[in-house]
Amino acid sequence: MTDGVKNIPVAIVGGGPVGMMLALFLDYYGVRSVIFNREPEVRRHPKGSTHNSRTMEHHRRLGIGPRVRDLCLPIDRPTDVSYYTSLTGWELGRIPMPSEADKRRSVANSTATALTPEPLLRANQMYVEAFLLAHARTRPNITVRFGWSATAFQEDDQGVTVTAEPTDGGAPETWRAQYLAGCDGGRSFVRRSLALRYSGFASLDSPYYGGRQNATYFRAPTLYRDHLAHRPGWNYWIVNPKGRCTILCLNNDEEFLAFSKAPDDGAEPTDQNATRSIIRAVGADLPIKILGHWPWTAGVALVADRFATGRVALAGDAAHLFTPTGGFGMNTGMDDASNLAWKLAALVQGWGGPGLFASYEIERKPIGHRNTTAARELSKQLASMPDITAIDEATPTGEATRRHVSAHLATMTEEYASIGVQLGARYDGSPIVAEDGAPPADDYVNYTPSGVPGGRSPHYWAGAERKIGDSLFDRFGKGFTLLKLGRKAARTDEIEAAAAKRSIPLKVFSLYDADARELYGRDFVLIRPDQYVAWRGNVQPADADRLLARLTGSA
Ligand SMILES: Cc1cc2nc3c(=O)[nH]c(=O)nc-3n(C[C@H](O)[C@H](O)[C@H](O)COP(=O)(O)OP(=O)(O)OC[C@H]3O[C@@H](n4cnc5c(N)ncnc54)[C@H](O)[C@@H]3O)c2cc1C
Repeated sequence: MTDGVKNIPVAIVGGGPVGMMLALFLDYYGVRSVIFNREPEVRRHPKGSTHNSRTMEHHRRLGIGPRVRDLCLPIDRPTDVSYYTSLTGWELGRIPMPSEADKRRSVANSTATALTPEPLLRANQMYVEAFLLAHARTRPNITVRFGWSATAFQEDDQGVTVTAEPTDGGAPETWRAQYLAGCDGGRSFVRRSLALRYSGFASLDSPYYGGRQNATYFRAPTLYRDHLAHRPGWNYWIVNPKGRCTILCLNNDEEFLAFSKAPDDGAEPTDQNATRSIIRAVGADLPIKILGHWPWTAGVALVADRFATGRVALAGDAAHLFTPTGGFGMNTGMDDASNLAWKLAALVQGWGGPGLFASYEIERKPIGHRNTTAARELSKQLASMPDITAIDEATPTGEATRRHVSAHLATMTEEYASIGVQLGARYDGSPIVAEDGAPPADDYVNYTPSGVPGGRSPHYWAGAERKIGDSLFDRFGKGFTLLKLGRKAARTDEIEAAAAKRSIPLKVFSLYDADARELYGRDFVLIRPDQYVAWRGNVQPADADRLLARLTGSA
């Protein structure tokens, strides 16, 4: 390379949660990366509060799970969702949900086949992103270029040349990477540079829950004490024809996030309008200081036409854009990062074959469609709210409206019970998965653990206590793991030799436990670095070399 050009295996454009997760996973595999992000620090504005079980499993794998969990709502606070005509009006319904302390207790008391070691976490993205950035800054494998914009890139057969400029002026830099990941959000510069478009639905036509919305970050020191403390929870919906508003608690009792409909005329949100909408939702005057606005669109379900070209991949919002219902957007992006990271690591370390990069799109694009569809369906449910005109009236009609709306709200628990979306993403039909058996039916609400190759490895407590180190996931290696679940005498020499010949990192882990054997359905199970089942059998594969070549994209 010419003078002044910096070499790096992977360049990442975008330092949102997905770009940072990708950099952290690459670091975990021992791969260096540079991450460019336009803003000098993470944006101080709350967004989603749902870090689902799969995302928490990823944080666990990186060794940061407990620190992320500590960013939760106050630990003993139930995370109920409740519905009102206003906070001083009628309660219309309540979905009780556990506090973080309850969840930790239920993990400690869970059975060996508990679906996950990591229950969903309610912590705002704003806090978790700040932690991820601080953590990334401590990792020598990650070059953090926050306050830098990627302005151009060129791809050739050998790699990608990226130009980046400091956003406050100064000299640009040129970087030469083997691969480039565009994790640069909904308006992705990387996706647009590749002339790739989104397809799907750009909005949802609904008077109740569609079109442009505003997320307002505000401080209200008396709101919790005077209006929420006697009905502790996380998410308070105001269903009222004078203005729908949802108030979300953050990790202290002073600051909140409110979602409300943006003005129909397309005008920018103003502090005055936002304050009015919050006071209307509370039903009483109170001191409010607006800290910021964040516009978003309800009902969006968009997926990029391609997730990867020769050496450039898209992940997160750059590849798929969600309506926030269900809290799937960032979580799906975190799973993209998990899928992409080990493939990039295998390629730069030389044990991945040419088919591995292409398998990223083959595996993740259908999940983009699956999860955006799930979110939109939930959004439609919300949008189909019955007529609420009389809901605030102290009349028989008002009473009937409230009963009707309460009955409708009682059908909407799925938004908060989507374990099938969280854990059930499968890569059936992928060229790097050796199919064996019928996969469970796809289901957004339920998750059926299955050892059939193509799905996330079923969870099992391999140790007696329910703590870090005891989960089967904690026993997996950083590369492939060969789970030996059958007879002690069963041989693993051929597959170990084949892996060594191809320099594929392989750890053999034996667990002689009838329940674990039943869960996985075979004596041997080969688990990929992203904790997905790649192959299973009752004897060593007849041609271990050929199998490994296939699973690593070389055949
Ligand atoms: C109101 C709301 C609630 C939500 N709730 C949830 C939830 O509960 N759970 C959930 O999973 N998801 C939720 N989401 C979605 C979630 O916020 C996004 O999916 C997530 O932020 C996407 O992460 P990302 O890293 O892909 O992109 P982003 O967070 O958009 O980050 C992209 C980054 O790239 C940077 N960038 C862009 N172009 C360049 C360039 N040329 N050079 C350098 N940097 C660049 C940007 O500055 C930005 O920092 C919600 C979204 C909204 C709006």
